[in-house]
Amino acid sequence: SSHLLCWESWLCGVSLPISISLKETSYKLPHIGYLQNFYGLQRDDHPHVRKKGENSLAAKLKEMQAFFGLQMTGKPDLDTLKMMRKPRCGVPDIGQYVFTAGNPKWKRNNLTYRILNYTPKMRRADVDEAIQKALSVWSSVTPLTFQKVEDKEADIMISFAYRDHQDNSPFDGPNGQLAHAFQPGEGIGGDVHLDEEEAWTKDGRGYNLFIVVAHELGHSLGLSHSNDPGALMYPTYSYTDPNEFLLPQDDIDGIQAIYANS
Ligand SMILES: [Zn+2]
Ligand SMILES: [Zn+2]
Repeated sequence: SSHLLCWESWLCGVSLPISISLKETSYKLPHIGYLQNFYGLQRDDHPHVRKKGENSLAAKLKEMQAFFGLQMTGKPDLDTLKMMRKPRCGVPDIGQYVFTAGNPKWKRNNLTYRILNYTPKMRRADVDEAIQKALSVWSSVTPLTFQKVEDKEADIMISFAYRDHQDNSPFDGPNGQLAHAFQPGEGIGGDVHLDEEEAWTKDGRGYNLFIVVAHELGHSLGLSHSNDPGALMYPTYSYTDPNEFLLPQDDIDGIQAIYANS
């Protein structure tokens, strides 16, 4: 399409007028927003200005392509754009969340959780069940236990949130980013936010709440994204029947590297 052509020629060095604000650029060039959200592309970068060596946008595209095992063209080609359109977790694939030495973990094994609000799209009991089942995915392979609290601050606060919800990571409406979570820590640490505008379900229609919460809880416990397409911690959404769900080995290895099983 003409759009693609435009992106291509733009990447080949044909500059956009300087007057186009980055905000507008992000809107017209959705891959830039994706790289800003998930690959640490600086928001104040002027990616159309060539730096010496490789242009930082092309470098970020290659980083993204490498993560997903795509051809590292450094250009927003069709396969890359297709991957970027998949519904996914809002936590970045690289950057502040990368699993490094001195990685964040809970210092206690007995954790608390609280469900702050519910979605009108599901029965309350089904939400409770999905969340409980998602917690058991992790408690069954670690020494961790999760106790539900109703009325006080919990380690893991789970809530449905709409658009800008005061944590600098606004949700984007239906599809796109489905949820995000924070690494272990005080306050917002460990909390799980679910995009209220998604079609949450207990089955294979829309987005299965259990699958998404199980993934987000991985972040709450200290895991970052895996590039193993079969892993629960892979960034994009894929449905598995909750009744047939088994935690993949990649995720078991990841969580047991943080919390040795007893
Ligand atoms: Zn994630
Ligand atoms: Zn949030």
